[in-house]
Amino acid sequence: MAMTDYLGKDIPKLGFGLMRLPRIEGKVDIEQVKQMVDLFLEAGFTYFDTAYGYDDSEVSIKEALVDRYPRESYQLATKLPVWRVETREEAEAMFDVQLERTGAGYFDYYLLHNLGAHRTAYFDRFDTWSFLAQKKAEGLIKHLGFSIHGKADELDAILTAHPEMEFVQIQLNYADWESPSIQCRANYEMAMQHNVPIIVMEPVKGGNLVELPKTALQLLTNANPNASTASWALRYAASLNGIIVNLSGMSDLAQMRDNIQTFTDFKPLIAEERTVIEAVRGELDKLPTVPCTSCDYCIEGCPENIAIPGIFEAMNLVLRYGEDRKAGAGFEYFWQTKGHGRAQADACIECGVCESVCPQSIAIIDELKHADALFGANPVARR
Ligand code: SF4
Ligand code: SF4
Repeated sequence: MAMTDYLGKDIPKLGFGLMRLPRIEGKVDIEQVKQMVDLFLEAGFTYFDTAYGYDDSEVSIKEALVDRYPRESYQLATKLPVWRVETREEAEAMFDVQLERTGAGYFDYYLLHNLGAHRTAYFDRFDTWSFLAQKKAEGLIKHLGFSIHGKADELDAILTAHPEMEFVQIQLNYADWESPSIQCRANYEMAMQHNVPIIVMEPVKGGNLVELPKTALQLLTNANPNASTASWALRYAASLNGIIVNLSGMSDLAQMRDNIQTFTDFKPLIAEERTVIEAVRGELDKLPTVPCTSCDYCIEGCPENIAIPGIFEAMNLVLRYGEDRKAGAGFEYFWQTKGHGRAQADACIECGVCESVCPQSIAIIDELKHADALFGANPVARR
């Protein structure tokens, strides 16, 4: 049954994801972020999503948003990754660091970050649940929930054990709607079954649904030559019931303008458009790409500092667009690895740390072997 009245129902449905902020020479381009914040708020949108682990995102949003706008004019969400530390004291100290970094005084939406698999045990071991309930009682958190990249049975178990969770943040995009590993549809339906509203993450699949292969792109262009590929993906997620907000990790003003246009006078997908999306999904399912969303969780623990998501990005250029893209992909491989001071695929010692944290369950070690076979002898890629 459709949710008619739920937490966050009236929040404007585009959220500003702060994971991929624009950068100049490695540093956040704070002036552009300020312009993006201004544009976003002027257009009537109010929800900002950061996290302890998004590099300098929390500090940047203090400068671009918190220090410049009344606190009650927006909602700020952030996340606690307690699986990054060894003790309960360290985990709890992160919360104070977040208050200091953001200067926000309190958090409107606060999430236990990336539950699922072995990570859930950290939140149990440190009893993060009662710690955050206490922060909520103190007024430092308005609404408490969690993000998860796992499967629907894990989501069911957590929501059953913790009915105090007010919302859940899940991956949701049309390409992975029926995916057996990511389970967008099953996770969506599970949240609805528990009457828990959803914050959508990765509606454009980490940007992968922007640059579509020709056959898929043609289907969208035929249906509407004026609509961007991102707008189709966002409208798909935003047409569902029970959604608090759809996060988009916007990296520049152009992306923000396009997204604002999509959500201003928002039109849900009609039946004919859903049929088009299903055809696009069929085209994408034919492609044997690596389903990496560039979340970067794997990079932190890699003892060899291998540029895992960047390597997959280069590989996918070839997998998606064919062998004629191999020269350009070779340069991309060099740029993503040595160009960023990181190691290439042949440095892998097969320790498995990356695979234990990958939310997409990618067989990273095997894929790195494929990457080395693809690029290893390429002088452009190895220079
Ligand atoms: S298996 Fe390879 S890529 Fe993964 S963490 Fe270990 S060294 Fe890094
Ligand atoms: S390989 Fe997995 S953990 Fe690493 S960036 Fe890609 S999706 Fe994230």
